[in-house]
This record gives sequence, C-alpha cells and structure tokens, in this order.
Amino acid sequence: MTKTVQDYIRTIPDFPHEGIMFRDVTTLFADPRGFRMAIDQLLHPYAGVRFDKVVGLEARGFILGGAVAHQLSAGFVPVRKKGKLPGKTISQKYSLEYGEAEVELHDDAIQPGERVLIVDDLLATGGTAEAGIKLVEQLGGEIIGCAFIVDLPELGGRARLEAMGFDIHVLCQYD
Ligand code: 5GP
Repeated sequence: MTKTVQDYIRTIPDFPHEGIMFRDVTTLFADPRGFRMAIDQLLHPYAGVRFDKVVGLEARGFILGGAVAHQLSAGFVPVRKKGKLPGKTISQKYSLEYGEAEVELHDDAIQPGERVLIVDDLLATGGTAEAGIKLVEQLGGEIIGCAFIVDLPELGGRARLEAMGFDIHVLCQYD
C-alpha cells in the first residue's frame, strides 16, 4: 500500500514533558520519498498562485520553507526566536501554555503589498503562526495562505486562524 505523509511521522510519548505526544517530523524529512511528498502536497493548493515570499517559522518551518520557496521561485524569510536575527527587527510576543515567547522578523524582509505564504511543521494552538502573521502584516505583507504538515484540531489553532479570515492548508491531523 502507498504510504501517506502521516505514515512517515513518528510519535514520541512524553516529550518534552510527561503527557505530551510529540509528533516528530524528522523521520518524514529524512525519507527521500516522504520529504518530496510533503513538499509536493504543501504546494498542491497553490498551483498557479504567485508568491513573493515564503515565511518559515523557527525551526522546522525553515526546512520546509526553503524547499517550498525554491519550488515557488519565491524568496525565503525566517521568523526567529528573540535575539537570533542580526539586523534591525520588529518583534511580537505571544502566550505559551506556561509564560510567554517572542519572535522577530527583520524590518526590511517584507515589502508592502508582497504576497506571503506562511509555512511551519505543526499547528497546535495557532499562537506561533498568529505571531508570524502579525509580523508580516505589520510590514504591509499580504498573507495569501498558511501551510502546515500537521494539525492538532483539539488545540483549536486552525479554527482560530480561519475565524480571523486566513486560508489554512494542512496535510494530516491527530486527535
Ligand atoms: P502553537 O503555537 O500552534 O501552539 O504550536 C506550534 C509550534 O510548536 C510549531 O512551531 C511547532 O513546531 C511546535 N510544536 C508543538 N508541538 C509539536 C509537536 O508535537 N511536534 C512538532 N514537530 N512540533 C510541535
């Protein structure tokens, strides 16, 4: 039987904390067929759509975003955790289960009106993606789509981002 993208993803129980089922996409990335399938499927809804920039969210969004940007002939832009980008940045805080996190974007990475695709490996609460979206929008970028390998629907990220009017594309879900 033909393997699906989900078949290449490994689940590690109790990582990084007890009770968390971590969906490990490194096994998907490591497999030549799996990785190609994931990139092809991420791109599928965007055939014929023009993008200026692919924005990848640290860190696995960089791996996916680079391949996707190459395929779209778009530029690649990283959204990084605070303190990692060398140039002048804008930043956005967002809440985690415990505490807060902050991500940054170079302030000249997106030009007003540029068409952007947001890419990450997994959508849980949607907090990380929303922070990335806010940064892009602050620079005047237009979010055309947001693409993820995995959706965890119980955590509500997809519903939250769709309610804000964003177009969300996911390849598989875990309950
Ligand atoms: P959110 O902000 O939507 O709650 O969490 C999504 C972010 O956390 C993504 O950047 C994703 O990489 C990371 N993440 C959370 N849980 C998992 C998981 O089980 N597997 C993987 N690969 N990433 C996760």
